Amino acid sequence: MIYRSPFREKSRQTTAFKKEGNWKLGYHTGIDRVCDTDRTLVAVCDGVVTRTSGCGKSYGNHIVYRTDDEKCVLYAHMKDRPELPVGTKIKTGQKLGTIGNTGNSSGAHLHVEIQDCATWGYGKNLLDPNDFIDWDNYKNDFTEKPWKNGSTTEKVYQTVADCKAKKNSIGSLLPREAASCVAVIDGCYLLTYSAKDTVKCGFVAYSGGV
Ligand SMILES: [Zn+2]
Repeated sequence: MIYRSPFREKSRQTTAFKKEGNWKLGYHTGIDRVCDTDRTLVAVCDGVVTRTSGCGKSYGNHIVYRTDDEKCVLYAHMKDRPELPVGTKIKTGQKLGTIGNTGNSSGAHLHVEIQDCATWGYGKNLLDPNDFIDWDNYKNDFTEKPWKNGSTTEKVYQTVADCKAKKNSIGSLLPREAASCVAVIDGCYLLTYSAKDTVKCGFVAYSGGV
């Protein structure tokens, strides 16, 4: 399967796959790319989030997702910790993060890796991303569904299980707060919404919204 670009505009390669150098394995395990204006990173194909991690290690803020054709795709050095929880189903072109400079990185760029396996492991089953990604296919054709939460305040949960059990709420979504539905899992609606200056996400059970 040939994937779309993780970018929403033209990008260019700065470090090649398997370039030899001062990396843990002695070579570069992915491809580095940069772009000029739109720093949004999107999913290259449909899949499910399998790993997210905050800053602190060499990959910085990163996300891994398993594609529908059983590959693992990693984006490293993102600006923020990924918002989508593990298990979230994602669609081609859906926003996963923003290019950043976290972890072992000098200058904002995307480090992308593709592995030929369902579970990500460092340096395992590496594939050349250039064999799978069509970098010229960067059109933005993903649209999030608008969400209408009417006049009630909705409790927000971190997991589908909590949402179904109505336990361990992590916050509330007020009627005036704008939200977008990025996925529906087991009857629970995964929303992103703005609260003051930050963007949050979580599940709500309200079934009349989308
Ligand atoms: Zn890299």
